Amino acid sequence: MKRASKRKPEKPRTPPVVRTIAKLRRATAELRRRNASIALVPTMGALHDGHLALVRQAKRRAKRVVVSIFVNPAQFAPTEDLASYPRTWDADLAALAALDVDLIWAPTVAEMYPQGFSSRIDPPAVAKVGLEDAHRPHFFGGVATVVAKLFTQVAPDFAMFGEKDYQQLKVVTAMARDLDLRLKVVGVPTIREKDGLAMSSRNAYLSAAERAAAPTLQRVLKDCAKHIREGRPIVDALAVGRAQIERAGFALDYLEARHAETLAPVAATTDEPLRLLVAAKLGKTRLIDNIAV
Ligand code: AMP
Repeated sequence: MKRASKRKPEKPRTPPVVRTIAKLRRATAELRRRNASIALVPTMGALHDGHLALVRQAKRRAKRVVVSIFVNPAQFAPTEDLASYPRTWDADLAALAALDVDLIWAPTVAEMYPQGFSSRIDPPAVAKVGLEDAHRPHFFGGVATVVAKLFTQVAPDFAMFGEKDYQQLKVVTAMARDLDLRLKVVGVPTIREKDGLAMSSRNAYLSAAERAAAPTLQRVLKDCAKHIREGRPIVDALAVGRAQIERAGFALDYLEARHAETLAPVAATTDEPLRLLVAAKLGKTRLIDNIAV
């Protein structure tokens, strides 16, 4: 007689999803039992391997992992892509289930910003250095406010942020320090496509021709970093890089060399450590990237 058929591999368990602060408090109290540590991974959904790298790092740091999914209206200007921002809820849930995440915090806009909400975090100095802030003046105020709320709501021991959004990582780190928040902000290196393009939810907007041109950004960053390391004056290396980016069809917002911690402008390679940061538009899609020198 044939034995019972082989068991089907178990489908990963979908993590619980909570949408109200009251339920979040109960769920995190449960997760924190026996002093278990918690790592938070804040996201706007449309998850890709970059986000999943943050989750993997979170799992290494803490016993429990909470992922927030919230497309934060406060960080979009009226002219930006809030309405069209990619939303891939079912795929996001499946990816987080496969990584055995403990909890998904997905508040509604009304839960995050109820009627009468009017407070705002004035972001730290590193948010006012003429990089992203010069092109998206409302952005870091919106990010700092929502991240401060997420930190208060979840009260994590660790919070994971990608180096892909380098200025944002520095802003959140400084804010947590300035406000004496009891958590460690952890930066995670950028995950890239095979051709070097930094993964981003917004890459989905690129046409085939734009997608083919997009890896130019990282190529130029790498070349610039090499030239600076070899001793070429920073201004010259950047001038060549800017021209290459524009020749590839981008509208350049900035290509800059900055001090890697303060993001202050640098004049010479002795102002180490250096970071190169770039933002440019391809058609309607705005891409950013950065690398260490
Ligand atoms: P977002 O959903 O775009 O707001 O990103 C959520 C988090 O994922 C932020 O901390 C980002 O810096 C991080 N992230 C986005 N893309 C990447 C990437 N390619 N590699 C590493 N982290 C990333």
